[in-house]
Amino acid sequence: MLTSRLKRWFAPPVFEGDLKRTHRANILNIIIISSILLVLPVFFANFLDRQTPIRNFFIDIIFIAGSLYLRHNLHCGRITFVAFSTLFFGFISVILTIISDGTIRTPATSIFLLWVVMATVFFELRGFIFSTIATSLAVIGLILAQQAGMMPAPVYTVSLIQWFVLTLTAGITGGLTYVAYQTTQKALTRAEQEIAKREQVEQELRKLTRAVEQSPVSIVITNLEGLIEYVNPRFVQDSGYSSAEVLGKNPRILKTDLTPPETHHQLWKTITAGKEWRGEFVNRRKDGSLYDESATISAITDLHGVVTHYLAVKEDITERKRIEQSLQEIRSRLHLLSDNLETAALYVYSHDVQGQPHFEYLSAGMEKLTGIKVEDGLRDAANLHALILPEYRPRLIELEIRSKGDLESFEIEVRQRHAMTGEIHWALLRSTPRRRPDGSTVWYGVQMDITARKRSEQLLEAANEDLRRYVKEIEHLQAELREQSLHDPLTGLHNRRYLNETLGREMIQAERENLPVSIILADIDHFKKINDTYGHQAGDIVLIEIACLIKEHARGSDIICRYGGEEFLLVLLNTMPDAAAKRADEIRQRAAALRIHHEQETIMVTISFGLATYPDHGTNAEELIIKADHALYQSKHAGRNRVTIWQGE
Ligand code: GH3
Ligand code: MG
Ligand code: MG
Repeated sequence: MLTSRLKRWFAPPVFEGDLKRTHRANILNIIIISSILLVLPVFFANFLDRQTPIRNFFIDIIFIAGSLYLRHNLHCGRITFVAFSTLFFGFISVILTIISDGTIRTPATSIFLLWVVMATVFFELRGFIFSTIATSLAVIGLILAQQAGMMPAPVYTVSLIQWFVLTLTAGITGGLTYVAYQTTQKALTRAEQEIAKREQVEQELRKLTRAVEQSPVSIVITNLEGLIEYVNPRFVQDSGYSSAEVLGKNPRILKTDLTPPETHHQLWKTITAGKEWRGEFVNRRKDGSLYDESATISAITDLHGVVTHYLAVKEDITERKRIEQSLQEIRSRLHLLSDNLETAALYVYSHDVQGQPHFEYLSAGMEKLTGIKVEDGLRDAANLHALILPEYRPRLIELEIRSKGDLESFEIEVRQRHAMTGEIHWALLRSTPRRRPDGSTVWYGVQMDITARKRSEQLLEAANEDLRRYVKEIEHLQAELREQSLHDPLTGLHNRRYLNETLGREMIQAERENLPVSIILADIDHFKKINDTYGHQAGDIVLIEIACLIKEHARGSDIICRYGGEEFLLVLLNTMPDAAAKRADEIRQRAAALRIHHEQETIMVTISFGLATYPDHGTNAEELIIKADHALYQSKHAGRNRVTIWQGE
């Protein structure tokens, strides 16, 4: 505890990184501590000797206090101050001792020698020059003072020459000390720098070694005889040999006949000339399998430029070679194909691992088809994409995105604008995908101009559309025609043709169901006179009015038609003769009551009716109409404006 404390107290200050200061502080520390240790016993001896004057105690205490003060300053780093003070007080105390002893030749004077040495150590050349001059002057001064009797007579004196030699010795010793000190300093500094440098180099080496160990390429170092001294883990991985198996061996163990002999020849010629060689080998692994390697081999030289080792940096390019080869094959096949096709263009299009699209191959036909120069298309896939008209582009992109996932072949039609002529044309894109080992996708495709086909398709489509429209129109006209052929244009009632078509059917139905059918023939009385009196147009109006009247009286099941010029025929289904006659009479009365206005004239008409009923008066339509006509004739004959049921001849 106490010793370690003392040790710590005695220890000199250390100035990290400043060897010179540390060194000086160390010397000063020793001087101060030894001074204290020197004075302490003197102090105690004086204390025991009762005759020692008080003045001596006082001087001793001041000396010790001064030493402690300087030591404190030393620990604070004030080296120059402490050195200067030590030298200054040392000098003064030597002078005082000489004066009090009354002789120059005292042990104190030899301390001058030490003094010059110390001054040189602390203040180098300046210290050496100054201290030599100071001691010389002091000694000369003291000798002169003695000779002049200013000092007590000496016990033993020296000559000036003797003192000059003494001083010279001190000067030379100081000078040599200075030189020695300087040399030591320099050597120490250099050693320190070298240590730092070596540490740095070692650190660098550690980093480099780590990099080499983790390198993704093979690294082999051989000596001048070509024997392997080092291989990195990647070499072990690529070749299948452990490093113990290859150390001290020649890399020839990997060699195969597949590497041309010129390669090795060229390799040695290049590296022995001090140049770097680059090339490829086909090597054999430990398990006998072959692999391709690209290698860079160069010489390693020492500081003086003398070759000491060879360094080979190699990369397994088997997979790359394989891909390059198959790509090359495909390209030559594509060339062959595209040369034989006129309107088609071939392309190889890929998405790299990041999904970036680009063309890898475009046949010359592409330029013809799209107007984009093959080089431009290869440089920037967007060039070709831009040609596709916007309405198709989203579909295309969507297709690509979808296809990237499940890799389906696709075939789409796009509209493109020719880059040079601006012409719009149709193209068919047909593509088949392949997944590459690195995760990218490649599409082999063909693009064909289908504008002509598309145009005729469009024309055909348009023609078809026209045809459909015409057929519809014809159908419509036919229906209208048919409608017209069954109707009377003036009154809108059915005509005789309609009657012929339907009456037979109704009669068969009535016969099957055993139901009566009444046929009424109506004829306007003296119609010729109406025409003659009011004009043919008025006659037409009368016909229209009467038709309306009859229609109003008809039921849903009745058939009404304009049978002749001013004759109407009514078929009343499931109606007995009396009921039919009753309905005919209602019409007759209404007609007679009718007042038809035409051009300030009021026209009045009457109608005569003839009636026959199935099955009472006939078995078929013709027979019944004849019978009804007979009955009508009877109505006319009987004075008109009446209804007559057929009653036999
Ligand atoms: P009745 O039957 O009473 O014996 O005398 P009528 O004058 O009606 O005799 P008839 O049947 O001989 O005459 C029919 C006339 O009807 C002859 C023809 O000029 C006329 N007529 C026929 N069709 C049309 C028509 O569509 N418009 C006009 N205005 N007259 C027509
Ligand atoms: Mg008539
Ligand atoms: Mg008539």
